[in-house]
Parts: sequence; C-alpha cells; structure tokens
Amino acid sequence: MRRPFIAGNWKLNQTIAESRELAQQLVANLAGVEDRDIVIAPVFTALSTVAEVIKNSPIQLAAQNCYPQIQGAFTGEVSPLLLQDVGCNYSILGHSERRQLMGETDSFINLKLLKVLETGLLPILCIGETLQEREENRMLEVLTRQIEGGLDTLTAEQMAGVVIAYEPIWAIGTGITATDDQAQDAHSFIRNLIRELFNTEVAAATRILYGGSVKPDNVDGLLAQEDIDGALVGGASLKAEDFTRIVRFES
Ligand code: PEP
Repeated sequence: MRRPFIAGNWKLNQTIAESRELAQQLVANLAGVEDRDIVIAPVFTALSTVAEVIKNSPIQLAAQNCYPQIQGAFTGEVSPLLLQDVGCNYSILGHSERRQLMGETDSFINLKLLKVLETGLLPILCIGETLQEREENRMLEVLTRQIEGGLDTLTAEQMAGVVIAYEPIWAIGTGITATDDQAQDAHSFIRNLIRELFNTEVAAATRILYGGSVKPDNVDGLLAQEDIDGALVGGASLKAEDFTRIVRFES
C-alpha cells in the first residue's frame, strides 16, 4: 500500500551544465516509470534549470535544505516558499551532514519541517545514529530523540505528507551498507514509534526510506524488506546508469 519512493541527493556537486545533462539522462532513462515516486535534489543554483528539464517527466524536484522562515532579514537563506516557486515538491531536512557540520538540532529541524508543511512542500526528514552511538547501544535512544524532536507538535493529518529517511551515519558515503536485517530492524522500530506517537493508520502509511551507500547491487535486497519503502541515495545518484537501476529496483 505504500508507494515506493527513490530520492537522489546530489549534495554539493554538479555545475548547472552538469546538472542539466544528468537530469536529461534520467528523464530519458525513466520515461514511463509511473508506479513509484522519483525525486532528485540538485544544488540550489541548479534547481531552476533542472525543474525545466524534468517538466512533463515522472521525476520530481527536492531541495537539500531550507530555512524555517518565509522571508525577511535572513541573509544567505532560502525559504520553502522560494523553493516552491522554483518548482520543488520536497525538501530534505536534517541530513546528517547538516546536523554534524552545521550543528543543526532537532528543534531547529522541527521548525523547518513545520514551515515546509505550512508552505505546501513535503519534508524528507533524515535521522540516523553514528557508529559510536550504535556501538554504545544508544541507537534506539538516538532515533527516538530525533523522531520525537523532528516531528514535535505535528498532527496525524500533517504526517500524511512526511517521508522519513533512516540513514545510519556510518553507512553514508563509506561504501558500508547496513545489512538487510539491520536496516529492517531500525525501520520496524521507527514505524512502531510512529504508531505510538500518532496511530496505526499513520504508521502503516508513512514511507520510511533507507539511506547509506545504496547501490545497484544492494538495492533489491534492502527494498525487499517489509518496512523499507524506498531509498535516499547519495553517491550513486550522480551516475545516471546507477540511479536508473536503483529506481528500477526489483523486489
Ligand atoms: C546521503 O547522503 O543521503 C547518502 C545516503 O549518501 P551515500 O548514498 O553516498 O551513502
């Protein structure tokens, strides 16, 4: 009942010309794929160009981040309204790189999430533990804090638009993927938590993506797991052929 969702996070890569070319390849490769959500997240400066290329294709646009205000004296920031204006449907929020490098907290991410929803965009909320937290058996505590903090004050109705991405930090960009079982265990825990915080219907409907070194050769096993509804892909989303195969996963 949950529609698969595959998103590519291009991170701080690609000029406008390179972004255009990659988007053009994906449009050609993925024409006619209608049974899953396909989302790409280029850098801010390429959003407008990519929006033009993917118009009339099954691919949707995401930003990698946004600021929790609509307008005003916030030098250097971009609001959800402007992202919508340029053609975004989604914004990734709380990516571990932003948590670790820019010091983003759960409460700040929560403000962004509420503003994104208020604007009519949809959030992809990233959560995940470090290797040290996992080794110290603090993974469940960390995931609980990130979910409760990130989704604070949300109603069950608002949850209808929220996508969660479980991304263990030790698996991001490292080539080390969580095993199918490790990922399924975390996803099942997250779904149960959403059930406790909201209700059974919300838990059953919420899409939970796995992220962390997803590649063409491991996507099928991961997405065959009961509680894994899609993937958030970093490195492999920069190669048209690899991302195409990931989108066309076979489970
Ligand atoms: C990510 O940045 O969200 C990610 C999962 O990266 P990678 O696929 O490169 O591990």
